[in-house]
Amino acid sequence: MNISWAFPETSSYGLYSCPKCTRTYSHKCTLMRHLRLECGVGPRFQCSLCEKKFKHRHHLRDHEKTHSQHSNLTAQI
Ligand SMILES: [Zn+2]
Ligand SMILES: [Zn+2]
Repeated sequence: MNISWAFPETSSYGLYSCPKCTRTYSHKCTLMRHLRLECGVGPRFQCSLCEKKFKHRHHLRDHEKTHSQHSNLTAQI
């Protein structure tokens, strides 16, 4: 594992902030889980309708909306 960023430190609010994104966590283990499973990992959320992959679930949801909009259009034709 290539760790080039500084190891997360506690902020003045007692929160652990992710060095890669803007998320903050009150527990170090939660931050470490975020780093391991969510942040800095490859896109994990794959669209069930096409080959596209997304890093975040809400990005996939936004993308899947475009599919449903498209199918609505084709349904009208
Ligand atoms: Zn992060
Ligand atoms: Zn898709």
